Amino acid sequence: MRSDQGQPIRLSDYRVPDYLVDAVDLDIHLHETATRIRATLQLRPNPAGVAGAPLHLDGDGLVATAIALDGEPLPLGIAEPERLTLAEPPRRAFTLMVETLVDPSANSALMGLYRSGSAFCTQCEAEGFRRITYYLDRPDVLSVFTTRIEAERAVAPVLLGNGNPVAAGDVPGTDRHFAVWHDPHPKPSYLFAIVGGRLDVLRDATTTGAGRPVDLAVYVEPGKTAQAAYAMDALKRAMHWDERVFGRAYDLDVFNVVAVSDFNMGAMENKGLNIFNDKYVLASPELATDADYAGIETVIAHEYFHNWTGNRITCRDWFQLSLKEGLTVYRDQEFSADQRSRAVKRIADVRALRARQFAEDGGPLAHSVRPDAYSEINNFYTATIYEKGAEIIRMYRTLVGPEAFDRGMALYFDRYDGTAATVEDFLGCFAESSGRDLSQFFRWYVQAGTPRVTATTRYDAATRVLTLDLAQDTPPTPGQPVKRPVVVPLRFGLVRRDGTEQPVRTGAEAGLSATEHDHGVIELSTPSRRLRFEDVAPGTVPSLLRGFSAPVRLTTDATDADLVTLMTHDEDAFNRWDAAQTVLSRLVLAGLRGGPAEPAPLRAALSAVIETGARDPAFAAQVLTLPAVSELAHEIGRDVDPDALHAARERVRAGIGTMLAPAFRAVLAAGRNAGPYAPDAAGAGARAFRNAALSLLAAGDPENGAALALAQFDGADNMTDRLAALSVLGLVPGAAREAALARFYSDFADHALVVDKWFALQAAIPEADTPERVRRLMEHPAFSLAVPNRVYALIGGFGANPTQFNRPDGAGYDLVASVVILLDGKNPQVASRLLGAFRSWRLMEPGRRAKAEAALRRVSGQPALSPDVKDIAARSLG
Ligand code: ZN
Repeated sequence: MRSDQGQPIRLSDYRVPDYLVDAVDLDIHLHETATRIRATLQLRPNPAGVAGAPLHLDGDGLVATAIALDGEPLPLGIAEPERLTLAEPPRRAFTLMVETLVDPSANSALMGLYRSGSAFCTQCEAEGFRRITYYLDRPDVLSVFTTRIEAERAVAPVLLGNGNPVAAGDVPGTDRHFAVWHDPHPKPSYLFAIVGGRLDVLRDATTTGAGRPVDLAVYVEPGKTAQAAYAMDALKRAMHWDERVFGRAYDLDVFNVVAVSDFNMGAMENKGLNIFNDKYVLASPELATDADYAGIETVIAHEYFHNWTGNRITCRDWFQLSLKEGLTVYRDQEFSADQRSRAVKRIADVRALRARQFAEDGGPLAHSVRPDAYSEINNFYTATIYEKGAEIIRMYRTLVGPEAFDRGMALYFDRYDGTAATVEDFLGCFAESSGRDLSQFFRWYVQAGTPRVTATTRYDAATRVLTLDLAQDTPPTPGQPVKRPVVVPLRFGLVRRDGTEQPVRTGAEAGLSATEHDHGVIELSTPSRRLRFEDVAPGTVPSLLRGFSAPVRLTTDATDADLVTLMTHDEDAFNRWDAAQTVLSRLVLAGLRGGPAEPAPLRAALSAVIETGARDPAFAAQVLTLPAVSELAHEIGRDVDPDALHAARERVRAGIGTMLAPAFRAVLAAGRNAGPYAPDAAGAGARAFRNAALSLLAAGDPENGAALALAQFDGADNMTDRLAALSVLGLVPGAAREAALARFYSDFADHALVVDKWFALQAAIPEADTPERVRRLMEHPAFSLAVPNRVYALIGGFGANPTQFNRPDGAGYDLVASVVILLDGKNPQVASRLLGAFRSWRLMEPGRRAKAEAALRRVSGQPALSPDVKDIAARSLG
């Protein structure tokens, strides 16, 4: 697809463009198989570029049907599918007109202009615009776009573009109509979008603080507007929050959201016209779970927040991707934290970070938040760019404090508005606002891998001195054998055995700087550091990394009793949860080694959590959910046997379920007469708590658990409880499970997003015949390789099944590899994301490792692989 034959693109090769585009006029005639695009570009030499350089416009599989320079036709021979060249462009401003013809119905990669159902839509990030017309398709070329769209009225009564609508009407004497959209804000081509089709719309309106009225609309497939209400509500909350918290107001007269069912990723922040995977828009209590609602709130906010962090200030080049993505994830995390329980949101985010980003950082696909080379940019929309990028933003705030952080953000918005910026530009704003030298902090952007921090304590009862030794190191990652120390902000406190907080008097006595003392944050920037706390009561436990103040793996010498102290008393809710996670994972790992894995020492602490569960059920649910097998596997680090690990984890769950069965039964009984469904934090928390109780009860007593689950499945009035019950049933083989699955399908066969859940749930069954089941389901009439959500549900779901993907006979690896090969020619992005299932293959014991490697080699040996899959396969093997 790309002309650069697998040659990596390097940050060090960055050059400013030789030409600039002042204005783009597009005239698009939509047609199912032959859409005609006439692009008129106002170009001029960039004074900062190379004078007289040839002009190369990017294309991807394009066919030009007409070209003219300042109105004079040019030979079509200057346009190849992948590039249009003007060898000697005028040395002054000039106008280039190019007409292209594309077939949206044949576009199975879902990049550029394609069809989703009967609608037309686009996806241009990162390099999809070049599949529509020839262009300087790079994020540092900003231009003002005017788009005229024309179509048969019956085919596409709705015609949407970026910016504001400026004209619309019929084409006289035809059955066609048109709409003209003008976006006054200069933008890069990756933010371009159009939509055309038969869509229903939910409308609303809001007014910015400065008094600008904004029309809001959510477009959905016909008949689904009722399911768009929550997205609209989230949008309005996000708009108000961004004004209140970041001082960022919306800047157009309209804001449109469109939900489509065929979409490679989550959603896209096109200026004024966000396009979404409908899974992040559509919800109703009967069809969507609490997690779906939370996902909608987050993604709606995320794409809206991009309007400032991404659109108004964009990226100079794709190496800076985290400049917009990390920052925007940070902003959506903060938004959701303000809408719900901050502590529970933080716990959920860290759980996801550990499961996805730590796994990436600890495997062959590790890369830095600001990579210095890539061969396929689509493979860099990763947990590292997004979630680790967000953790870096959070660390800025922890290090410089909230006031300097706010000043730094304001400076960034002020100084870089309307430009394409870099990570260095961003960092400079905080160096300036805080007066601090952040050059060492910059290593977080360029050094891959998860730093390890170890804490060792020594208590001298005679002098009442607690010595805390801290050390850091970062394991090598591909291409980066030697690492240097980073700045690790460790928010901390000292927790006495009686639960009170031990004050740290002046700080100086301990060796803390005044800033560290005032912020309550130890800054570990050297390989090791010693702190001495005086007049410390016996049994006092340091609570480190409060709120997960840095994306590191922390190992302490805390005993189980110390951890129970933290779990019970720490004023930091995150660390109460994390202490519980540590004890639970120690239990699993002890069981794995054949030692005792009795949860008895946790009885009191867990009982207390369950008791207070009435007050904070969402938190209790998080405590009662063990670390995932994949996370535990990374903790072990080598020669993992996922079957043994899964079994050890299930034994601990069963132990807890048996030990606390009466308490869990009481939780379930109390929940029976909970009121009508509401997707708010309180309702969701209560359901999560009850479903965690159900899951543990069933682990301890599968027969009784299955009966309880079946009753809940039958009686549920909402998808959250129904699906939770079905997941519990999913772990208990037998006719009841199969009957429930069949009923679920027949009840919800018309609801694609629910059918996805049905596929995913079966792909997750930890049983030996699951690969066979998945193969069978691929033949199911509802399965289609052309629908990304379906493929992610069944094949992606299977790739995340720790025991069955990693089967010792290699059948799991082969299954995913075969689908990757089958799909690659049609949709390389989806294929390459599926191949990511192999990211942790090197952790496995040698037998599995050999099978995984063979499967990866089979993929990489295929002729004519896409750059996407070729890159992931090569790096996975590298
Ligand atoms: Zn984003």
